[in-house]
Amino acid sequence: MSVIQDKQLDEISICDLFIPSEKVAHVQINNPLEHALLVLVKSGYSAVPVLDSSYKFVGIIGKTVILNGILGLERFEIEKLSEMKVKDVMDSNIPTLTRESTLLDGLNSVIDHTFVCLVDKEGYFDGILTRRAILKEIKKNVYINSYKK
Ligand code: AMP
Repeated sequence: MSVIQDKQLDEISICDLFIPSEKVAHVQINNPLEHALLVLVKSGYSAVPVLDSSYKFVGIIGKTVILNGILGLERFEIEKLSEMKVKDVMDSNIPTLTRESTLLDGLNSVIDHTFVCLVDKEGYFDGILTRRAILKEIKKNVYINSYKK
């Protein structure tokens, strides 16, 4: 695909594409799973970022890991929703980007994830970049290039 010939994918900034932290639903590492599940169900998101008490990014949590975490041998052990914490089940092995990352970095990150988190130099949470935003930007540039022909 000869996308974005004039401007290469690795020259396009993600600065205008990401959702800033103040607009992103998140949970904290010590929240009970019940709170995380409420945030996920009410927001309709499949996963949200997890932050520590100083708002540094530490991982993500989704509905599936919560349900797996409370799954007993024969039933969901609902009481565990209040006993277990986000840190017990969250996924902390997650790639991150920074504001300086490029559209190419973003594209590579969202192959395996529906969104990727942005952090600053100290690890403070800065926002998220979604697969949807990346695809829309690429589609826009594909159209621009096909009209030029
Ligand atoms: P979307 O591309 O809008 O469908 O978003 C993909 C995923 O990114 C969602 O399922 C959420 O996990 C996450 N996401 C998108 N927007 C937000 C937001 N404002 N707050 C928290 N998570 C979000």
